Amino acid sequence: MIDIPPVLLFVLAFGVGAVAALGVQALWQSSAAGQQRERVLAILSVARRYALGDLSRPAPDYGDDDVGSVARGMDHAVQELGRRIDSLSRDRARMEAILASMSEGVLVVNEQGLLQLVNDAARRILKLEKGSIDRSYVEAIRHPGIVEHIARALAGHETGPLELSVTRDTTLTLVAQVAPVVAAGRGAVLVMHDITDLRKADLIRRDFVANVSHELRTPLTAIKGYAEALLDDPEDDEARRRFLEIIHRHATRMERLVKDLLRLARLDAGQETVELAPCDIDGLVEGIVSDFEPIAQEKHQTLDAQVAPEAALLVTDAAKLHDVLRNLVENAVNYTPDGGAVEVRARIAGGRFQISVADTGHGIAPDDLARVFERFYRVDKSRARPGGTGLGLSIVKHLVQVLDGEVIVENEPGGGALFTVTLPLR
Ligand code: ADP
Repeated sequence: MIDIPPVLLFVLAFGVGAVAALGVQALWQSSAAGQQRERVLAILSVARRYALGDLSRPAPDYGDDDVGSVARGMDHAVQELGRRIDSLSRDRARMEAILASMSEGVLVVNEQGLLQLVNDAARRILKLEKGSIDRSYVEAIRHPGIVEHIARALAGHETGPLELSVTRDTTLTLVAQVAPVVAAGRGAVLVMHDITDLRKADLIRRDFVANVSHELRTPLTAIKGYAEALLDDPEDDEARRRFLEIIHRHATRMERLVKDLLRLARLDAGQETVELAPCDIDGLVEGIVSDFEPIAQEKHQTLDAQVAPEAALLVTDAAKLHDVLRNLVENAVNYTPDGGAVEVRARIAGGRFQISVADTGHGIAPDDLARVFERFYRVDKSRARPGGTGLGLSIVKHLVQVLDGEVIVENEPGGGALFTVTLPLR
């Protein structure tokens, strides 16, 4: 940054004063001394005003003689300098505003290793105190990697980008780039980008690919194994049939997984359009209950539904709400042990439509409550249902978001899980 020494202003102002003073001496003895004295005092007063930083006009009439010309020249120089200082101050304020609004951290160190500039983001990222300007960067910055990079840049070496973790309240992943500065004396400038979200997204993507590969490999291995066994031409018809059934079951599982993955991809890409129409909630709930009635009966479970009269009709996308509810009821029936109960309730609460699925199963451990909507997250792998893909609740969450609603899960006071979907009334 360019620093205009304010003393220059004073020197120029003083120049005007000095010329005026000389004039005083020369003119003092002349016959028109009184008149001239007035003029020179006026010039001196302008010089004093300038010296105090007040460059406002108008200036007095300096006169047409030599003293007047010199005073006018000096006055012009002071005014010009004032304009330049103004423009530099504006540039500086603009630069400070830009630096303050940047999400990247910027820090400048001078030749002596003293901090010259630290923007708000850098202060936040490196937890620097407010008064760190003019402090040694080695003392102020506690990250050895950054300190080493700055030292190299101060020695005039180019350094590559440095990826590092900084622990504040949470751990941030940063890319720090330090470059030597040669203009206006040696120094170094450090720029830090926060790439925490990028790294997190990358990790989620890699986990997802690993999960998909794993989920596909399991049924694929089974299919391949039993197909090979069939190729060996077993004598036993019973065995042949059993192998084919196993192959069919695993192929069905793969088909469901691929279907769920494609649906998630469509939801992610915002390709599922919402078709709003009046929806018969009574009929929708009844349909799903009767679909799962046979499984519930097999498990000696009761499966009930209660739809409040004012919640019997809702303007929404019926197909999407159907998929949401089907997933929740299927989970409730599956994860509730034999002899339990599952209940679907629809009502209007707080000016919104609310539909919930409650069961009397084991519920979900508090630590897992927030994670069950993640892709492939299963609370207890040993209890995972055979046909499940681990994607159902993730699809539910996306669908509810598409419907402008929200879904939450909690544990019932007496045990069992309670999933509640809230949708707007249109
Ligand atoms: P999955 O295909 O495994 O059922 P979901 O995404 O539907 O996948 O559910 C994720 C996990 O959440 C399940 O594996 C299970 O551990 C847990 N879960 C879902 N619903 C219930 C429920 N009603 N009771 C207990 N646990 C549940």
